[in-house]
Amino acid sequence: MTAELREAVARLRTDSGGTFELIIIRPGDLRRLCVDAALGSEDAARLATMALRAVENVVSAPRKKPALCGCCPRAVRKRNRYAIGLALPWTDGPAHGIAFVLCEKCAADSDLLARGIAAMKRIWPDARPVTLTHPAGGQA
Ligand SMILES: [Zn+2]
Repeated sequence: MTAELREAVARLRTDSGGTFELIIIRPGDLRRLCVDAALGSEDAARLATMALRAVENVVSAPRKKPALCGCCPRAVRKRNRYAIGLALPWTDGPAHGIAFVLCEKCAADSDLLARGIAAMKRIWPDARPVTLTHPAGGQA
């Protein structure tokens, strides 16, 4: 775990009291999120900003050192159909969160939410997910 990620987990833990909300942005949903942000949704703007940072990490990764899936050891490359996970503290108007990517294979899993939780448990084993949602309005 990088120092930056360790710091992000510590901040998330402090902000949330140990409970987080996991938002999964499936391949193809990011466009809609950006449109909602452009139309004035503050929530969409906050989520889109975080998600685009995750995209930037994938796009800017060196070819020989690609971004990695948060759930499995597979590489995530810019032309893949990957999903994005956003873990936010379970508070009103969270200011910080953790964004990560899920590889094409994990993104295709019918239980993508479970994959996202597994990814978070790898870096924050005692965290408690509460409400699992994604911007398209689904809920688990
Ligand atoms: Zn994966």
